[in-house]
Amino acid sequence: EVDELHKRPPRRVIGGPKNLVMTHGCKGSVLKAEEIHENDPRQRLVILGSGWGAVSVINQLDHKKFHVTVVSPTNYFLFTPLLPSATVGTLELRSLIEPVRRLLAKLGGYYLEARAEDVDFENQLVEVSGVNKSEGRKFYGMSDYFPYDKLVIAVGSESMTHGVEGMEYCNFLKSITDARDIRRKVMENFEKASLPTTTDEERRQLLSFVICGGGPTGVEFAAELYDFLNEDLVGYFPAIPPEEVQVHIIQSAGHILNTYDLKISEMTEAKFKRDNINVITGARVGKVNPTSVIYKDKATGKEVEIPFGVCLWSTGVGMTPLVKTLVAKLPTSQSNKHAIETDAYMRVLGTPKETVYAIGDCATIPQPQFVGKVMEYIKEHDTNNDGTLSYEEFKSLANKIVAKHSILKVFLAHIDEVFEKYDMDHNGKLDFDEIQAFLRDAEKSCTALPATAQVANQQGTFVGKRINTIYDLTSAEEIEKLPPFKYTHLGSLAYIGGNDAVLDMGRGMVYSGLGSEYMWRSVYFTEQVSMRTRLLLLLDWSKRAVFGRDISKF
Ligand code: FAD
Repeated sequence: EVDELHKRPPRRVIGGPKNLVMTHGCKGSVLKAEEIHENDPRQRLVILGSGWGAVSVINQLDHKKFHVTVVSPTNYFLFTPLLPSATVGTLELRSLIEPVRRLLAKLGGYYLEARAEDVDFENQLVEVSGVNKSEGRKFYGMSDYFPYDKLVIAVGSESMTHGVEGMEYCNFLKSITDARDIRRKVMENFEKASLPTTTDEERRQLLSFVICGGGPTGVEFAAELYDFLNEDLVGYFPAIPPEEVQVHIIQSAGHILNTYDLKISEMTEAKFKRDNINVITGARVGKVNPTSVIYKDKATGKEVEIPFGVCLWSTGVGMTPLVKTLVAKLPTSQSNKHAIETDAYMRVLGTPKETVYAIGDCATIPQPQFVGKVMEYIKEHDTNNDGTLSYEEFKSLANKIVAKHSILKVFLAHIDEVFEKYDMDHNGKLDFDEIQAFLRDAEKSCTALPATAQVANQQGTFVGKRINTIYDLTSAEEIEKLPPFKYTHLGSLAYIGGNDAVLDMGRGMVYSGLGSEYMWRSVYFTEQVSMRTRLLLLLDWSKRAVFGRDISKF
């Protein structure tokens, strides 16, 4: 078969630029940009992914310096922060996406609809496979490789399932297909519930919406459902008594929106209580059945079953298959369990310098001397000088340093469990060895920065600017002088329904109410990647204000 491939003449890749020809190597086929390499001073930059990180790199690039190829299974950029609004028809799905080819046009860039399967770091080749099922996974029946001079890995993350059984009965909210599936299911359930043949029990089950995970995605989905019920249900579904519609949020930590300021969590919980949204905290989902969720109350150990018509699973993010493959290939340099480790310049540890970068959800920057610095602080503040911290002392110190060491934020959300797990001798105190063990695990099992569009955007902009600058530099000393990446937190926003949003600016500055909702809208309006999506967004918001949501099931 390999001989046969060698005999094949070089082929053009359909849809590729004129100078891109395909030749075959012993490893399979190599998608090779020959003319570019020989006559063109530009470097071949391959970007994996077409999300927040990738688009921020593209926006910075100089087309005279790089021949850009984006490899991604999705041929569009998705504006994820507004995805919850598409689940009940507040916004149209098409208003959230921008074709990646349009974004690449100004660079004369090339898009390859494919999935990256692996990277050969030594030979600078990305192994790609087709995404069109009818053509088979591989383009030409064997592995195909795409060469690069520089590579940016921006493949995002996957929903984390924590090994819970029954994920096949859940909906996720990561992609445009997920939002379309939820929207269809929500409308389908309302239609089924309105049928005269539906029993009371069936109706209650169909109209029960269970959200596993009280982070921003779960909260915003609950808020959108609330708006839909209040603004559209009463008028268009007269057969459904509004009180029969139940929305439950099951959250394992003590509060929803637990990565925000505590005041925001409390404000949101109070609002949801007024809106009859059932917030269950301190509870862990153990199993999902076809039409019910079983959770355990952590305080009492009691198991509770809630029937559902739609169950949204949104409990954090983990590695994509590609990231798992790449991390496993670099065992001596990579040890984080959630993302690819980079240095402070977003260069992937264990790969040739200034060649491979990783950004966004799939990357993490190690926090230098994190364990040492936190231990130092804790020792300094051990007021009773006995080398131990009680639960309250531990919590109060961790809260004080959380702004500096954001890794702790995730753990603070589960502080009871952390304390229980590391208190080996069960004496209600953590000694310094136990705290150190906790910090070491925290460092390995968390990403240093939150998995947000804000982080991906800033890292993409940084890498785009850096590689543009490096192209013109001639010596390694000049490159070494360039500044590292520095994250600037611009605040966190979440829509909580009924024309209300919450805004956390950090350092205790929190806002809510109509003003925050306008802020939420204007931030997302300005952050759009094109005038086209800006206009579509305005039209959708106006259409909804005048005519209500489109409640057709399609
Ligand atoms: P993504 O934007 O997810 O892009 C990953 C890209 O990689 C995709 O194009 C994907 O198709 C592609 N890809 C995947 N596998 C491969 C492969 N093997 N080969 C090639 N390409 C591949 N963040 C905020 O800051 N504010 C918010 O309000 C907010 N709201 C959110 C709401 C929802 C519903 C969701 C799901 C996320 C939200 N986020 C928000 C988080 C934010 O979307 C992510 O942090 C951000 O998208 C990360 O950017 P990224 O470039 O790393 O990954």
